[in-house]
Amino acid sequence: EHLLAKRVKQLTPSTTLAITAKAKALKASGKDVIGLGAGEPDFNTPERIIDAACQAARDGDTKYTPSGGTVALKDAIIEKTKRDSQLTFERNEVMVASGAKHALYALFQAILDEGDEVIVPTPYWVSYPEQIKLADGEPVYVDTNEDTSFKLTPELLEHAITDRTKAVILNSPSNPTGMIYTKEELQALADVVLRHNLLVVSDEIYEKLIYGDAEFVSIATLPNMRERTVIINGVSKSHAMTGWRIGYAVGDATIISAMTNLASHSTSNPTSVAQAAAVEAYNGPQDDVDMMRQSFEERLDIVYNRLEQIPGITCLKPQGAFYLYANAKVAATESGYDTVDAWCEAVLEEANVALVPGSGFGQEDYVRLSYATELKRVLEALDRVEDFITKRT
Ligand code: PLP
Repeated sequence: EHLLAKRVKQLTPSTTLAITAKAKALKASGKDVIGLGAGEPDFNTPERIIDAACQAARDGDTKYTPSGGTVALKDAIIEKTKRDSQLTFERNEVMVASGAKHALYALFQAILDEGDEVIVPTPYWVSYPEQIKLADGEPVYVDTNEDTSFKLTPELLEHAITDRTKAVILNSPSNPTGMIYTKEELQALADVVLRHNLLVVSDEIYEKLIYGDAEFVSIATLPNMRERTVIINGVSKSHAMTGWRIGYAVGDATIISAMTNLASHSTSNPTSVAQAAAVEAYNGPQDDVDMMRQSFEERLDIVYNRLEQIPGITCLKPQGAFYLYANAKVAATESGYDTVDAWCEAVLEEANVALVPGSGFGQEDYVRLSYATELKRVLEALDRVEDFITKRT
């Protein structure tokens, strides 16, 4: 303990990990635990992508690559960005990283000095605050709720800005809420961003998981915003490739170059064969991407309707990603628990269902559940949760 640096001592332990560890222990003791904590697609990576990786390995694509990614992958990302967002980038404006998480890490390391503030809308993805703190920055939380569909508004943004504000994070579709910003909402935020000369960190990792008539718009496509945005994206969620660890950042060449420099002294480069796989992911036919999206949408409709019937739980219908973010305060109180955290623990121990408590996302009254699991199992989990509640009320 005395050997540890302040930097790691101040890290908040992940509530997700605590629940996962407990779920594992219960499973090991023979309990039939249903985990709804997963942050990843339940599909295997499409065959065409696996084939490309095998071929690359056999062809000798097993050496160091440039730190910021191979030319082939940078070009595939440039084409993808042109195709999906009609934005044109050059190779020196692209950095491939070991997952979107690492792209974000490198970005905060590259742009933050001690005390620099980054606006983080709550609920947030668990790693944003920790990554900002690891770069000596200060996360500035802005709480959002159902009234704005958990979205940041120009008023809330304006209110949070100080002379130390450097950036604001937008994550659309959002983990954990699944909400998506419309073009109009983004334009209203962009007006504030431009007026205050801020940078937008646009985490677009769930871009391909959009349901109903919702539409994805990147804030970088709005007037004058290309220069003010760093887009973060990757193949993890879109192509069921979480384990391959390929993500990327596109944006201002100076920032990208600093991030690449950092990577050259830490990771050297993302895995060579995984990069080859990602080239195929982006350049090949995208039917598999849509097939997976469709499967998630079918599950969402069924699971959402079921969740709505559970007493004491309320939830806005998500428009994207693969999570449901529900207020469980009433259910927790009525089943005899003071906090949703304690309720989640009891649900795990007694009903053997692992939910992620909202405290990890900055909101204590909520839970996140992932439906990227076999439909039958998700529905069984919800039956158990309902039983747990009704037995106690
Ligand atoms: N951003 C958000 C909002 C996420 O939910 C995740 C993964 O859970 C990531 C980034 C990281 O993705 P990757 O697996 O590519 O590092």
